[in-house]
Amino acid sequence: MNVLRVFPRRTAATPDDDLVRIGYPDLFPPECDEIDVSVTFTYDLPNAEKMAEAWGRIAPTRIGGPATGDPGGDFVPGLYLKKGYVITSRGCPNRCWFCMAARREGDIRELPITDGWNVLDNNLLACSQDHIYLVFEMLSRQTRKAEFTGGLEAARLTPDTAGRLALLKPRRIYFAYDTPNDRAPLAEAARMLWDAGMKPCSHIVSAYVLVGYPNDTLREADGRLRYVASLGILPFAMLYRDDAGKVNQTWRRFQREWCRPSIVGTKLRVRDNESISGL
Ligand code: SF4
Repeated sequence: MNVLRVFPRRTAATPDDDLVRIGYPDLFPPECDEIDVSVTFTYDLPNAEKMAEAWGRIAPTRIGGPATGDPGGDFVPGLYLKKGYVITSRGCPNRCWFCMAARREGDIRELPITDGWNVLDNNLLACSQDHIYLVFEMLSRQTRKAEFTGGLEAARLTPDTAGRLALLKPRRIYFAYDTPNDRAPLAEAARMLWDAGMKPCSHIVSAYVLVGYPNDTLREADGRLRYVASLGILPFAMLYRDDAGKVNQTWRRFQREWCRPSIVGTKLRVRDNESISGL
């Protein structure tokens, strides 16, 4: 059976085979038996509903994906994410106020491990040690260097796991600095990774830093990003969005300045006593 997957927007992770479309049907829709409209972001839901109505004239259509509250099943490589991306667990034991992962998927659940090199798990380090090390083993067999773009929880890193991560020689690891509780564990994680032989300031170890949430200020966000850089970790600003996806343009500009390594490098060369644009 031919199932067409339709996405409201293209991202780096969107699959690109012949049975994928973005947005509304064009004049020559592909032949298919069913259509899945897959929605990742809550703010895309209103548009996705209109898209589903339009695609429904071509074949039976359903809407699914994380934004609909779908807890997700076993991961199928290449189906809803481009080949290379892999999810080996769902859910999370934490309940961060801004995150839907645990509310949607429940506590951590380990899945069968499939091949891929870019790990998108919500919280891989919350899995059992056996699972984590089997994931590392799978990554060591791939033709491309491992990436951990789903975000690792610094507080769960151990010296042993840090050592095994270093042995993998990954292309990129992202940690997360979302709440004040992440600050000290991030410093500790950096120390473990440098002790394990990874190089500070090498652009391999990065951290998503959540900015622009209610009551956040540009000065405080700037301070958090500079703190991350002071640890030898490349900061990457992640802009908070509410369910409607609204963003403030000042925060949008600020985030853009802190999400490109070349610009971040330039910013960090600005002396501490110089003024910071937008503050
Ligand atoms: S640790 Fe990460 S995945 Fe888990 S609830 Fe917090 S933000 Fe979400």
